[in-house]
Amino acid sequence: MDINILTDTEAAMLQELIAASNHIVICGHKSPDGDAMGACLGWREYLCSLGKDAVVVLPDAYPDFLHWLPNSEKVVRFDKNQERATKLFQEADLVCCLDFNAPNRVEDMEKALVSSPAKVLVVDHHLQPSFDDASLVVSRPEASSTCELIFRLVWQLGGFESMSRKWASCIYCGMMTDTGGFTYNSTDPIIYFIIGELLTKHIDKDKIYRNVFNNYSSWAMRFRGYIMSQKLNVLDDLHATFYAVSRREMEDFHFIKGDLEGLVNEPLRIKGVKMSISLREDVERDNLVWVSLRSVDDFPCNKVAQEYFEGGGHLNASGGRVNGTIADAIEIAKKAIYAYAELLKK
Ligand code: 5GP
Ligand code: MN
Repeated sequence: MDINILTDTEAAMLQELIAASNHIVICGHKSPDGDAMGACLGWREYLCSLGKDAVVVLPDAYPDFLHWLPNSEKVVRFDKNQERATKLFQEADLVCCLDFNAPNRVEDMEKALVSSPAKVLVVDHHLQPSFDDASLVVSRPEASSTCELIFRLVWQLGGFESMSRKWASCIYCGMMTDTGGFTYNSTDPIIYFIIGELLTKHIDKDKIYRNVFNNYSSWAMRFRGYIMSQKLNVLDDLHATFYAVSRREMEDFHFIKGDLEGLVNEPLRIKGVKMSISLREDVERDNLVWVSLRSVDDFPCNKVAQEYFEGGGHLNASGGRVNGTIADAIEIAKKAIYAYAELLKK
């Protein structure tokens, strides 16, 4: 199966870009998920195998269920080590931006990123990449995950043979998490070709699944149950749902990052529901509500995210924010659902 994604010219460019760089910073988006983490750590393994000095720098914390990822402890967090992270960006000769389509997706780390004198490589699967002056942009919105793209790049550059089990586990993790355990956005046969190859590296795919998806604390389990039973609004006729979670509730349930990961998918299990919206107050900042949207079939939740929540994303998985109170966010969510009533009812 031909899984190469670059033209020969692009592959040569990438090879040159790497060859000419010794200090490489790899970064992912704010609130890194399994794909961002897997891609960054997997790509780091590749660069290290070439003898490069490569460091993963992320804007903030990653969820507890990703702590098992090999070398995750070496990640430099911008929010905790601003000085060190800024210095790494300043001294880098190559910055690799993985799993995000625009510099502002790293939030507070944006300035450090854009003021780096380094060349920039982008590898991503979100729509509309917007990086000025990147040396090479590998943007494939049709791909399941950035990890899939990283695998295909490594394959094309001849790095597969030296891929270790740990490295393969990072790649598998991102492919698995961005497709909900291969339940959506995962019909391309190439995905299963890649999985077959990763299995030859003896990854324990069942354990990876359990590490990621069966890793709740009892508080998280109760919190998720509480939200589904007490906080879910189901607009039956409009085939849409939303729930809003306040900071107070997060405190009550001893919330830590990752506890509500993926919960927004849950209401889609209700027969007929086409769109689910999650609204969650920021744990620190007032007047900031984080929004996650999920949809099924051809309903474009990324359009809703763009029009109502200053965000965007994929057709069926997108996000954004409301600069306002949780009550404001609820009003906007209702407004958005009613505005899309015709399409939702179809
Ligand atoms: P999540 O709900 O997991 O935070 O985000 C779902 C998807 O939407 C992810 O692929 C994420 O990258 C994308 N997304 C989340 N927030 C934003 C945003 O503010 N802008 C854009 N363009 N995409 C977003
Ligand atoms: Mn991704």
